[in-house]
Amino acid sequence: MLRFFTIGRTIAIFLGLLFLVGAAGLTLFLVDQKRTTLHDQAVEGAVWLSQSGIQQQLAIQFGDQKVMQEFLQRFLNRPLIASAAIFTAQGKLIESRDRSGETGGSVAAFSRVRGISNVQDIVEQTLPDELTGKPFLNLSIPVFSYANPMLYGADKDVFVRELAQARNQGAQHVLGYYQLGIDLSSLENELLEYTWRVGLTCLGFSLLACIILVLITRKISAPLSNLAQLASDISAGRLDRSFKARGTGEVYKIGAMLNMVLAELNSYKTRMDVDNNLLSMKVEERTAQLSKRNDELNKAVAQVTRTKNRLRQLAYYDSLTSLPNRQLFSEQLQLLLNIAKRDNIKIALLFLDLDNFKRINDSLGHNAGDALLREVAARLSGCIRESDLISQYFDNESRIDISRLGGDEFTVVLHKLEEKGIAGVVAERLLDALQTPMIIEGHEIVITPSIGIAVAPDDADSVEGLLKMADTAMYHAKTTGKNGYRFYSSAMRGTGVGRLKLEAELRKAIDQQDMVLHYQPQVDARTGEILGAEALVRWNHAEHGIIYPDRFIPLAEEMGLIVQLGAWTLLEACRHSIQMRDLGLKLPKVSVNVSSLQFNAAFIEMVEQVLKETGMEPQYLELELTEGVIMSNARSSTEALLQLKNLGVSLSVDDFGTGYSSLSYLSRFPLDELKIDRSFVIDYNKSTNGAKLVSAIIAMGKSLNLCTVAEGVDHNDQFRFLSAQGIDVIQGYLFSKPKPRDEFMLLLKSNPYPQQIKEILSQQD
Ligand code: C2E
Ligand code: CA
Ligand code: CA
Repeated sequence: MLRFFTIGRTIAIFLGLLFLVGAAGLTLFLVDQKRTTLHDQAVEGAVWLSQSGIQQQLAIQFGDQKVMQEFLQRFLNRPLIASAAIFTAQGKLIESRDRSGETGGSVAAFSRVRGISNVQDIVEQTLPDELTGKPFLNLSIPVFSYANPMLYGADKDVFVRELAQARNQGAQHVLGYYQLGIDLSSLENELLEYTWRVGLTCLGFSLLACIILVLITRKISAPLSNLAQLASDISAGRLDRSFKARGTGEVYKIGAMLNMVLAELNSYKTRMDVDNNLLSMKVEERTAQLSKRNDELNKAVAQVTRTKNRLRQLAYYDSLTSLPNRQLFSEQLQLLLNIAKRDNIKIALLFLDLDNFKRINDSLGHNAGDALLREVAARLSGCIRESDLISQYFDNESRIDISRLGGDEFTVVLHKLEEKGIAGVVAERLLDALQTPMIIEGHEIVITPSIGIAVAPDDADSVEGLLKMADTAMYHAKTTGKNGYRFYSSAMRGTGVGRLKLEAELRKAIDQQDMVLHYQPQVDARTGEILGAEALVRWNHAEHGIIYPDRFIPLAEEMGLIVQLGAWTLLEACRHSIQMRDLGLKLPKVSVNVSSLQFNAAFIEMVEQVLKETGMEPQYLELELTEGVIMSNARSSTEALLQLKNLGVSLSVDDFGTGYSSLSYLSRFPLDELKIDRSFVIDYNKSTNGAKLVSAIIAMGKSLNLCTVAEGVDHNDQFRFLSAQGIDVIQGYLFSKPKPRDEFMLLLKSNPYPQQIKEILSQQD
């Protein structure tokens, strides 16, 4: 709104209004003038006409109608006069006429017009017309005569003479009155028309003046508003305009100054823009660099975190079961022991070892063994987690309640043990958890653990000590029937051999050759002839006496000592075999057990090397391989077996029946002998199926053209049954336990078996 009222516009509006008012005033003034003029013209013309000489006076004096009508018509011929009448000096109407030419038109009453005014005065009186009601200006004009009508008016000639003479005397006598009606409404009409003309003309002129004024003020104020616009543009930061008008006035000087300021500002702005552009380019570049670095950094951090996690996982967790490994177990147990010492609380360590795991591993292969360990880990973890009694967490992340130390050994730590009995309850839960059979690669398997429990600080107060005690207790549990648990007691200290101690000693024993081989004869079931002997390793322990291979072979396998031990056994067995034959004893064959962990390319080389070194003729040597070893990788096994076979040795399948041999493979392998597992021999009379199974195995062995051996035969009836089924060879306590070499040689010499067989077959018990 305010923007509209610029200086120029304000001046133009003000002057425009002034012009309009002036025009109106001028119009009014002119109209007023005109009205006066018209009035005066009418009155003066009438007065002038009324003084038209003797003829007129005569006509009035002597009532000459014709002349009077003529005179009246002269009045009517003038503008505005609508009616004319002649009255006598006494006010009597003589003659009247109006504009339509009618005589005797309406004339206002003489007395109303003149009233009481002087008889010689010209009187004006505005009255409404009696007929139309229009306003009329009634003019009463006296008509004078120089001769006195009273004296000379009787005779026309006298009167004329008197008139002529009296003119010089100057006396005046009223002869009568003219009464004229001036139509004011037609005067007004005329005036209105005039007003319009004048008004419009004035208006036109004032409009013209206004337009000229606007143009002039615009011309004057344009540079000013240009300046104002420029100033507002500058203040708004628009610097791309300049002051265009030329001239010399102050406005132009200001304009020129502003133009200079603008130019200065523009160059400054240009510099600033360039600077800004450079700056923002630098900022962008820097931002891009930073974000790239940030990305790289993030990637690096992520990778480091991944690696760290991976390393932590590798360092602290068992890759097979994802349980904490020995390292994490030891570190966390150490911390727990510190806390326990400080807070004076007890901790129980449960050491759990699977019974006969090696056997399953051997017979089903390592993949199955791994699957079994995973299942065991899951069951143990599940049972620990389920139990509110024992879910003790060290912290949220690293629960150490269950760990896998390696192989088939697991540990469970119970923190804040209130009483010893709770550890027993937990051990029972763990035993229960494994009681339900597991399905591993389609086979139903039950695996039992043996658990040893040690309590800190009662039994030991270090990680190592606690482990040793729990381990000792576990071995006691194993020797007293497996699938059970035992608490450590000081009484075990003297008798027991802990696992850790065993490990250290085994290494030493293998180095120092504290191992001995015992031989168990393999007897022809029909003749009693000794057809061979199985070499079985024993550990001759200085303190504990003979230790049996069930205790240390798994350990040797785990510790990687089995290759060394296996090589020693083979060498020793070959040497003994040669020596015995050199002494003239008849030993057609010596059988050596081969661990599943031994059976690889290096093993074949080793056998070749031993044969060469000892000079052993290969037909005297038999290698016992378990079913699992042969079957776990049938294709590579075929090759390896062929290579062994090519060396000239014979091959026996040990523990046959416990594994899951494919018959079609069995027929393809270059085998010589099947050793039916001891469990079948034991079970043969427990069910009809047991007996059927044994005879089926024997029949199958025969059909494959393999020698059949039954091991673990320790009763006469077992022998009788087996020989009835057509078994070829018998090995077992019935004939002999594994014996030291010297004793075995005596057996070879005496050979009591043909006689024994006769006796067995002859008696029925
Ligand atoms: P295996 O090859 O099945 O050996 C037969 C085991 O059955 C021997 O136990 C033997 O003493 C036992 N045995 C034989 N007849 C009877 C019997 O009538 N009744 C009973 N109750 N047992 C009988 P040992 O000597 O304790 O060997 C156990 C296992 O240790 C062997 O099982 C074999 O797998 C392994 N082993 C023994 N010596 C060696 C060796 O030099 N190298 C390898 N790799 N393993 C060996
Ligand atoms: Ca064997
Ligand atoms: Ca066996």
